[in-house]
Amino acid sequence: MEQTRIKLEENEMWVRENLLKLPETPDESPRLIAGKCESCGDVSFPQKERCGVCSCKNINQIYLSRTAKIYSYTIVHRSVPGYQLPNIVAMLKFKEDDSLLVISQIKNIAPEDVKSGMEVELIIDKLSDNFMTGKKVIGYAFQPTIGDIIRER
Ligand SMILES: [Zn+2]
Repeated sequence: MEQTRIKLEENEMWVRENLLKLPETPDESPRLIAGKCESCGDVSFPQKERCGVCSCKNINQIYLSRTAKIYSYTIVHRSVPGYQLPNIVAMLKFKEDDSLLVISQIKNIAPEDVKSGMEVELIIDKLSDNFMTGKKVIGYAFQPTIGDIIRER
């Protein structure tokens, strides 16, 4: 397994804080940080302070599975500056909660090969170039399940 420690370069920035649990050992995988309501069990991503279903404030932090299934997707051909096009954007389903849908870019696959129901796995990758700062925006994305964790950027 390749090196999994994550350290951003000077010209990189996270898309947002507190979305990812980064690997601490070579055997760990990055995971999305979600919240699970103690009262009704609803899972939210990103983690919320209050449950969107029952308004309960007792939200426990959980880590979503590394793999998910593509529920639906679209191919983006026109965009604000900074995105590589075409860009595959999907809604993903996780085994932790059937009602949870997470939106993510899908990487390392040709648009014509993407299918609903396909299994994908979390990677950490460049999402875009920030056209204000010129920095590479780094965050979570998913790719077809093949096993390697972090792509060269
Ligand atoms: Zn709830």
